[in-house]
Amino acid sequence: MKIINTILEMQAFSSLRRKAGKKLGFVPTMGALHKGHLELVKQAVKENDVVVCSIFVNPIQFNNPDDLKKYPRTFEKDSAMLNDVGCDVIFYPSVEEMYPEPVTRVYDFGNLEKVMEGKFRPGHFNGVAVVVKKLFDIVMPQRAYFGEKDFQQLAIIKALVKMENLDVEIVPCPIVREDDGLAMSSRNVRLSPEHRKHAPRIYETLVKARNMFPVSTVAEVQKEVAKIIENEPFMQLEYFEVSDLETLEPVSENKPGKSVIGCIAVHMGDVRLIDNMIFNL
Ligand code: AMP
Repeated sequence: MKIINTILEMQAFSSLRRKAGKKLGFVPTMGALHKGHLELVKQAVKENDVVVCSIFVNPIQFNNPDDLKKYPRTFEKDSAMLNDVGCDVIFYPSVEEMYPEPVTRVYDFGNLEKVMEGKFRPGHFNGVAVVVKKLFDIVMPQRAYFGEKDFQQLAIIKALVKMENLDVEIVPCPIVREDDGLAMSSRNVRLSPEHRKHAPRIYETLVKARNMFPVSTVAEVQKEVAKIIENEPFMQLEYFEVSDLETLEPVSENKPGKSVIGCIAVHMGDVRLIDNMIFNL
């Protein structure tokens, strides 16, 4: 496995492979890897000739400087894990390499960036779009793999690909969970042991909401979720939204045959956790 730090070297590597007719799969990450990330890489390894994984803690997508400072960085462990699952290249640039000039690009994703994560993390999705567009220009993949754990991010990336006419197939990958249901996240290691014990309650609440959905109104489901989370000693509910799968517009009515997605964000101490689940009628 190769480790590449510069844009020029990464582009040269990818150009050569593409000219040789190889299919490039790409998994962008911020490192602190866990089994969820590795599932994306494994799928990319199955479906492509060459797999590139980027590790870059993107400063411009953090609206909270403390979160950026505390974001776990575990490069040695990450590279061993990536080697084990058959990754070919880690693209591991510095912040200066990625952003030699201040970023001025401002995307407009309309409502997609105004709801949920967009509402509570101003500037977050612009930072995501800027870095993903840059990474696509550098790595030049035919396919890129993103987790449904960050469902709104996936919608933004699909919109970015359409908006910029990018020739990249976006491959969504299912949420990987711990045995107790907690969605895997690089931030989970920052939970205190006590908070970690309670954290699966988020998943259990989504399951409860999914079970209620066919026989309840959206308002009843929302009320129940808020009640459960607010009664949890270590949790503060930031939002729970029931949204359209494509537009992510809030849904207020159950319509037969239409799936929706329940998305949640919860604070536990200074750790912010998100999760989601699809509800069907
Ligand atoms: P991150 O390093 O958190 O930016 O995540 C990199 C990629 O891994 C994103 O596409 C995430 O959606 C995905 N990912 C993170 N956690 C999970 C998970 N538990 N299950 C599936 N994909 C995930």
